Amino acid sequence: METALISPASATILGIPAGIIYILIPLIGVGTFAYIIYKRLMPLLRAAPDERFNRIPERIRAVIKIWLGQWRHPRYMLAGVVHIFLFAGFLILGARSTQLVFIGFVDGFQLPGFGGSFGAFYSVLKDYAATWILIAVAIAAARRLFFKPARYAVPPQYGKDHTWEALLVLGLIATLVISESFFEASLVAAQIQKGMHAEITPPLTLVWFFKHLLSGTSLAGLQGVHSVSYFIHEVVFFFFLCFLPMGKHFHVVTSLFNVFFMRLERGNVKPVRHGVDDDKLDDLESFGVKVFEDFTWKHMLDFYTCVDCGRCSDHCPANAVSRPLSPRFISIKGRDYAFKHYPWIGSNGGPSKPLIGDIYGEDEIWSCTTCGACEQECPVTIEYIDKMVDLRRGMVDEGMVPQSLQKPLGALEKRGNPWGKMERKRADWIKDLAEETPVKALEKGKTAETLYFVDSISSFDDRMQDIARSTARILAAAGIDFGILGKAEKDSGHEVRRFGEEMLFQDLKDRNTDAILNSGAASIITADPHAYNALTNDYNDLPPVEHISRTIARYAAAGKIRLKPAVDAGKVYVYHDPCYLGRHNRLYDDPRAAIDAIPGINRVEMEGKCRDRSFCCGGGGLMLFYEPEEEQRMGVLRVEMAKQAGANVIVTACPFCLVNIEDAIKVAGLEGELEAIDLSELIAQHLANED
Ligand code: SF4
Ligand code: SF4
Repeated sequence: METALISPASATILGIPAGIIYILIPLIGVGTFAYIIYKRLMPLLRAAPDERFNRIPERIRAVIKIWLGQWRHPRYMLAGVVHIFLFAGFLILGARSTQLVFIGFVDGFQLPGFGGSFGAFYSVLKDYAATWILIAVAIAAARRLFFKPARYAVPPQYGKDHTWEALLVLGLIATLVISESFFEASLVAAQIQKGMHAEITPPLTLVWFFKHLLSGTSLAGLQGVHSVSYFIHEVVFFFFLCFLPMGKHFHVVTSLFNVFFMRLERGNVKPVRHGVDDDKLDDLESFGVKVFEDFTWKHMLDFYTCVDCGRCSDHCPANAVSRPLSPRFISIKGRDYAFKHYPWIGSNGGPSKPLIGDIYGEDEIWSCTTCGACEQECPVTIEYIDKMVDLRRGMVDEGMVPQSLQKPLGALEKRGNPWGKMERKRADWIKDLAEETPVKALEKGKTAETLYFVDSISSFDDRMQDIARSTARILAAAGIDFGILGKAEKDSGHEVRRFGEEMLFQDLKDRNTDAILNSGAASIITADPHAYNALTNDYNDLPPVEHISRTIARYAAAGKIRLKPAVDAGKVYVYHDPCYLGRHNRLYDDPRAAIDAIPGINRVEMEGKCRDRSFCCGGGGLMLFYEPEEEQRMGVLRVEMAKQAGANVIVTACPFCLVNIEDAIKVAGLEGELEAIDLSELIAQHLANED
């Protein structure tokens, strides 16, 4: 088709045919990009194995929902919507940018399928996409420069702020859409001047504005704009491509893969080494992550994919109480390490140094409660808990266990509970139960349909034993034939595993598994979310496991548990979601249904801080023995949230939450204003079956 201006492929630059230059630019750009990617893959090729090529249909669904659908972005509404517009605009303009590359050496090039009516529709769509991209870039730049959210800040101990990088990339994106629009608008303006057929310019788009802007320009001037804007677009496009793998914008390339290879399970912890069965762990020479190359390739891909958006740290309870942990910087430091030791120019660094003490601190890694808030929030599915556990496994293997944890770990090894209490005292809590609630000990051939797995804290802690007694009363009132393992029960090992003591966990798991299978019970109920999570996600081949909140909700709905009207109808109750019931196992509705089954009860929510955005109470299991450096307790922040919601009673469904929250109420000076109760205790107080 004849055009009013000389096309890039037919032009000359300093006497050289431009077509040659426009072949060389993409060749150099793509070649450099391929080389940088090859260098970036180096550490992944040396990494530990990871099994992520399974469950392909689920992975494709995850890509469609989380990557293509940007599912998690609107959790932060303004930033999320801006990102969705940028992302959608990028996808749309990808085809146009590809076409432009070919236009540099093939006059009038059209991508296959982009002619006819689809081509006309696409042309309008890409003009609007370029326009909304520029608006989104302007909003993002204003946020970076004038309204910077606190979560973008970089505390001095974590290095330098990366605002310049974000602004540079926004500038490059703006240059791309502006140059593309000038390229097209100059041609349209020239065609109109010469009375030739011109493309339609959709109203209020960039190209429409530029067409009007250029309407009085001479043909020679339009030719200059046309040629220069094309040249700028090509150079910036390939510079941008090669700049992506240099920093946080690497996610533009890696996020698709990171989401595809995301962790599909919830609640469990990765094996010590993929491909090595639990009964072969003794054969391993080293446990956990000690040097960078001990991370799995997927965990390294996580480092490359971190967007540095700070959402994880914004919801991290450890960060909120100023423990020396901010998950975002676990990723940033990991990426910086990879870039430094595997540079894109020059040879790889020498032998890797131990990570602990070099880039991560011991306290930083022990500070994590494994609450999962960071993983829930991350828009690109970056994992933290497995990394924390792997780093702890490495520290435990090197004997780097905090002093305060050494005693409980020793007691767990010797007596099966962290307090070192005698095994025969494990069932002492049943002594204070009324005669109408007999509890069978499933030993010496005695069996029951259901096993009540009590776990250590509710067996031995004087206050928490009330949860065990309440649970037994509920089971009896529901007419469930149940029993306990008594002295044959050991700690579930849930926290032992998450604190990196894998061999001790395996021992506890084996002993509990034998005792559970020998009991002959066909199902398991527990009132402890940590035990529930361990038995459900860490153990194998057990009978079905249920948390007591589900049992209560089911039996109350069926009329088999009858509840009296609220004993204190004037009180306002709020439910605190325990991490290992909520986020890790998605049990949000059953505990609420159980509370609401009490006629006349007044329950409110901690809006914005409940369900999958619940805030960790401070951590359970061995976290109770760990003394972190922190400015205040997580539990104190949590009770303040409950107070703000207007509650006088915090209901939880986890003995560890109850310990932390009761303690926090005292520390916060809220005694008399707020109280805490476990779900089992609340339901037992209202049992009508016993009357
Ligand atoms: S799991 Fe919880 S405590 Fe640990 S880094 Fe993530 S948000 Fe922070
Ligand atoms: S890990 Fe995820 S949530 Fe955290 S800063 Fe990186 S991209 Fe954002």
